[in-house]
Amino acid sequence: MRKPILAGNWKMNKTPAEAVEFVRALIPLVTPYPQVETVVCAPFVALPAVAAALKDVPIGVGAQNCHWADNGAYTGEVSPAMLKGLAGYVIIGHSERRQYFAETDEGVNKKIKATLAHGLVPIVCVGEDLTQNEAGITEPWVSGQVRAAFAGISADQARGVVVAYEPIWAIGTGKTATSEVANRICGAVVRGALAEIYGEEVAQAIRIQYGGSANEKNIGELMAMPDIDGALIGGASLKTDAFAAMVRITAETN
Ligand code: PEP
Repeated sequence: MRKPILAGNWKMNKTPAEAVEFVRALIPLVTPYPQVETVVCAPFVALPAVAAALKDVPIGVGAQNCHWADNGAYTGEVSPAMLKGLAGYVIIGHSERRQYFAETDEGVNKKIKATLAHGLVPIVCVGEDLTQNEAGITEPWVSGQVRAAFAGISADQARGVVVAYEPIWAIGTGKTATSEVANRICGAVVRGALAEIYGEEVAQAIRIQYGGSANEKNIGELMAMPDIDGALIGGASLKTDAFAAMVRITAETN
């Protein structure tokens, strides 16, 4: 049984003070649903304040990126070693990082290895853009990203990774993949690639989220799908009411 995981990706939003105000309001709304793993992925500068506000509260804290090295001459970067104690999760390879910051499959793979080495849970993003989707190459593209991301990662480590299937054309656009299509890519394509690498038992243990304009109106339908184990949520995660409603609906759906 895979525990559903909803992670809010705040992107470059919320000052430390706004972040604390947000999570204080969120606590009473989502803690009644311990059957859902709820995570907020805050900007780096807000992590200390958010981690302090959520101390002893069962809401996870995540970062949105990290470097693969422990330390060194990488101006402006933050290492997984520095995140320990502040975050339990790290989003890796989000399409905005791949698009605007030239992240490659190779870098994503190194970052996954580094976060795992430091006991952090990587939330690894894969997904096709509109051109790839319209060219009918979604399946080979996404399975190729999964293979590249997991290269050299052991079966035991893989069990602790979360994969987010995020069709890029659905991110922040208000367009969502239908729940059937999202389920097919999460199941046949992402889990299928994981099964080819690690075998069916390990693939069945790995959680796969959908991401792309998920909100309180469509989350019930998405979460009712057998291969969708949660969501990575951008816009709707910035509003306490919408995010909390998504946690409640997920709890009621599973
Ligand atoms: C995201 O940024 O990962 C995302 C899914 O954004 P949105 O929910 O706004 O589409």
